[in-house]
Amino acid sequence: MTSADSHPAYPHLLSPLQVGSVTIPNRVLMGSMHVGLEDDVGPLKKMGAYFARRAEGGVGLIVTGGIAPNIDGQVKPFAAKLTNRWEAFKHRYVTGPVHDAGGLIAMQILHAGRYAYHPLAVAPSSIKSPISMFRPRALSKRGVERTIRAFVRCGELAKTAGYDGVEVMGSEGYLINEFIVEKTNKRGDGYGGAYAARMRFPVEIVRRMREAVGPDFIIVYRLSMLDLVKNGSSWEQIVELAKAIEAAGASIINTGIGWHEARVPTIATMVPRAAYTWVTARLKGEVQIPLVTSNRINMPETAEDVLARGDADMISMARPLLADPDWVKKAAAQDAAGINTCIACNQACLDHIFQNKRATCLVNPLACYETEVVVEPTATKKTIAVVGAGPAGLAFSTTAASRGHAVTLFDKSAVIGGQFNMARKVPGKEEFDETIRYFTTMIERTGVDLQLGTAVTADDLIGKGYDAVIIATGVHPRRIDLPGIDHDKVLSYVDVLAGGAEVGKAVAIIGAGGIGFDVAEFLAHDHEHASPSLDVDAYLAEWGVDKTMETPGGLTKPKTAPAARDITMCQRGESKMGGKLGKTTGWIHRQSLKKKDVTMLTGVSYQRIDDDGLHILRGGEPMTIPCDTVVVCAGQIPARELVAPLKASGLTVHLIGGADEAAELDAKRAIDQGTRLAASI
Ligand code: FAD
Ligand code: NAP
Ligand code: SF4
Repeated sequence: MTSADSHPAYPHLLSPLQVGSVTIPNRVLMGSMHVGLEDDVGPLKKMGAYFARRAEGGVGLIVTGGIAPNIDGQVKPFAAKLTNRWEAFKHRYVTGPVHDAGGLIAMQILHAGRYAYHPLAVAPSSIKSPISMFRPRALSKRGVERTIRAFVRCGELAKTAGYDGVEVMGSEGYLINEFIVEKTNKRGDGYGGAYAARMRFPVEIVRRMREAVGPDFIIVYRLSMLDLVKNGSSWEQIVELAKAIEAAGASIINTGIGWHEARVPTIATMVPRAAYTWVTARLKGEVQIPLVTSNRINMPETAEDVLARGDADMISMARPLLADPDWVKKAAAQDAAGINTCIACNQACLDHIFQNKRATCLVNPLACYETEVVVEPTATKKTIAVVGAGPAGLAFSTTAASRGHAVTLFDKSAVIGGQFNMARKVPGKEEFDETIRYFTTMIERTGVDLQLGTAVTADDLIGKGYDAVIIATGVHPRRIDLPGIDHDKVLSYVDVLAGGAEVGKAVAIIGAGGIGFDVAEFLAHDHEHASPSLDVDAYLAEWGVDKTMETPGGLTKPKTAPAARDITMCQRGESKMGGKLGKTTGWIHRQSLKKKDVTMLTGVSYQRIDDDGLHILRGGEPMTIPCDTVVVCAGQIPARELVAPLKASGLTVHLIGGADEAAELDAKRAIDQGTRLAASI
């Protein structure tokens, strides 16, 4: 029986791959992603549970987050390293559970180079990165030798810890990448100068590591195939390096896209799906070992298409497996509708890591909390009413029903999703549809009694035999007190995004939080052409990615479509506009609007609105923003009208999501709160 017979929907994705003596059962590699569990001081039990859950879910080959081969390679002080036998012993708590679950796991060896967030940072040359505080010390020639030996020793220790292989991190602008590229490598010795000397460092690492670990141990090499920085590697150099790495003994080459300092979005939600697999495809045929492609592949049909057209031999996904550990199992069961899809928001994973917090997932708050938040069948079945089918109510209802509670979910709207129905209209946020689709499936499967088009009053709930009522009614937009606020030209973001209100050619936006930015993005597009987030070539052109790769580094002049409107965004605070947006995505939102010539005014004092426009004071000076429309995006207040009468009736009431707290609300908190309450009720 062929793979196509056993897996008619995804025959390429689900076919095994032979790598030396190891059979990888399918083409899914869980890409390396730092989640914070690696840095635990004792035995790595939580990390073991996290990966074992993904192994149970059928992932072909797991790669851990980056582990440093020595102290100066640590990403930050006290970050994970593997330099001795005690540290190798800690990793047995990872490899053991993964193997017990039938999985394969490789450990990534990452030397942070000049991106290290500590004063011991080293690099080929003492050149500071634009995104780091610390100027690195240039490694001496003996230092280079010591570092190569540290990589090799780290590989040997990983083998003794029970790993099936290692991934040598050679991309994203970390140490190895810094050796490769001339602008970060000004050395005059045998590790700098001509290209052959610059690539000697990684080639020596792989060659000596292969000698040390023997033929059966997997060595994945992550190769930067598109640096997205000026004067990066040329395509010819990339091919030369790939061939040398293959000859040195690597088993697999994985694709790296973009240095961390690159100013092109590579994985955020506005990046189209599979936007970079053409890069890996270019390398096909140049080497004989399997190639892995990556970036924004989150659903089986996308992965299957990429493999079927021959762009790569394997797919790397990290965040989608945080979002759904059973992704592979569900693909094998042809159950794409049941996949909890990663929406590429970065809010709970990468943004957490940048805030020194443990990563988890916006759509799956159980991720990385496998041993702490457990959803088990209930011993005491309760009858529960949930008011509001936004993210909070949906997460609660489906989790509680999966435990065996009898749940009725009400929403006054004709559809589920709450504010996500506005978010999904914003160009670049199309992925939010997937969350609504997932919850639609889960409502059916868990047996939630869904009552749409039902605006619930307290009387509808009192005396109806509910053991508990969950108020997940979300928020009301904040109304602001300003002369002229009732003028015809004033709209709220709800009028614009949900009500389809007509918006003029010149627009002023009051409030520049997440919603103000999204409204500006929505209004800047004409909605006649497909959003660049749905069209790979349009996206690459907008961000200046050179698909011909004629320029070293792969950058060219960006081509931005002009904005559909003349937009001015205002905020009262003096701080950087969008400063509270996600660490890994805020810069993209700002840059995207700047490219469209959106004016951003901070330090604004609102005076009045009239036929001429929005009148403000700025630096004490009066100013008029001429506009046809003013859109108010001034935050939100909780919608809690039901709480007092329900509590007065003696009902047990729980508040979740925006109804509980509107300040700093986002879907991450709403889903987390709903899930945790449902796990414990
Ligand atoms: P809501 O989503 O507001 O849902 C409340 C539900 O209750 C609604 O469906 C409503 O119809 C229903 N309801 C209210 N009263 C009643 C009643 N009496 N009877 C029956 N039903 C009732 N968050 C992020 O994390 N990331 C983002 O990128 C993001 N982008 C956004 C973009 C936009 C344009 C908007 C508007 C929001 C965005 N958000 C984002 C915020 C996110 O959508 C909210 O934080 C989240 O939806 C709050 O969830 P909730 O369940 O508490 O409330
Ligand atoms: P927000 O982020 O709190 O922003 C509210 C804005 O309104 C601020 O810019 C504030 O700025 C202004 N404001 C507040 N009170 C005002 C008043 N009385 N008069 C005039 N301006 C006032 O809230 P939001 O934009 O409504 O977003 C709601 C939540 O959704 C956010 O917390 C966010 O996390 C989430 N969200 C996230 C994303 C995302 O991409 N991650 C996108 C959309 C929404 P000044 O006080 O400086 O004027
Ligand atoms: Fe994906 Fe967002 Fe979850 Fe990260 S937090 S895994 S980007 S859905």
